[in-house]
Amino acid sequence: MMRKQVVGNWKMNGSAAVIGEVLDQLSVERFSADVSVCVPMPYLSAAVGRLAASPIRVGAQNVSEYGDGAYTGEVSARMLKDVGCSLAIVGHSERRRYFAETDAAVITKLARLLEVGLFGVFCVGETLAERDSGGAEARIESQLAQLHTLMARGAGPERFCVAYEPVWAIGTGRAASNEQISSMHEFIKRCLGPAYAVLYGGSVKASNAADIMALTAVDGVLVGGASLDAREFGAICRAA
Ligand code: PEP
Repeated sequence: MMRKQVVGNWKMNGSAAVIGEVLDQLSVERFSADVSVCVPMPYLSAAVGRLAASPIRVGAQNVSEYGDGAYTGEVSARMLKDVGCSLAIVGHSERRRYFAETDAAVITKLARLLEVGLFGVFCVGETLAERDSGGAEARIESQLAQLHTLMARGAGPERFCVAYEPVWAIGTGRAASNEQISSMHEFIKRCLGPAYAVLYGGSVKASNAADIMALTAVDGVLVGGASLDAREFGAICRAA
């Protein structure tokens, strides 16, 4: 059986002091899940250093769709690898919403990660309006569509996973129901093949993590708000 994956997404939160507090507490633990923390860009190197003796991997929350060059303010996949990152999240709904990232841009970002050997956490999710109108699966299918090009070029399940994050469940305290999660994860696995890991994200906390991760089609979780609290995040990792 595949090891569960737990990925923390600190979003634009934290500080040098918080990195020390949270990562030092996590670094002494040994989890049966594969655990990663995606910290803000300025703290990547510090996080890599803090976790040097731990199997917990460090990731970024975004990557440029361009390679190195005259793109002021951008951070390339090569740079992420250079500072010791192992993975990056692409296509988070906050980036799609606030920074107008398109499906095409998100696929290019994933391709950039794969080119340098970084693991990609490819986020998909429908809005409440899309779900209420019966269009949730169609939206997810359209977000997944271009993955097939990368898969045809050899991007196997060891190179990326999908994170299903219904937009209406992120940061709202209202996780999707177990039925909604199972049904969409099974749909994603039918689209991509069963070997690709599918994580759930959206208001995961210590109190619901075990039930969610016990679902057959759930290969792990992507955790936002609760990942900044070492005790809460540690409990989620232990629930895997
Ligand atoms: C996220 O940011 O990916 C997320 C799932 O957030 P939260 O856990 O806070 O809902």
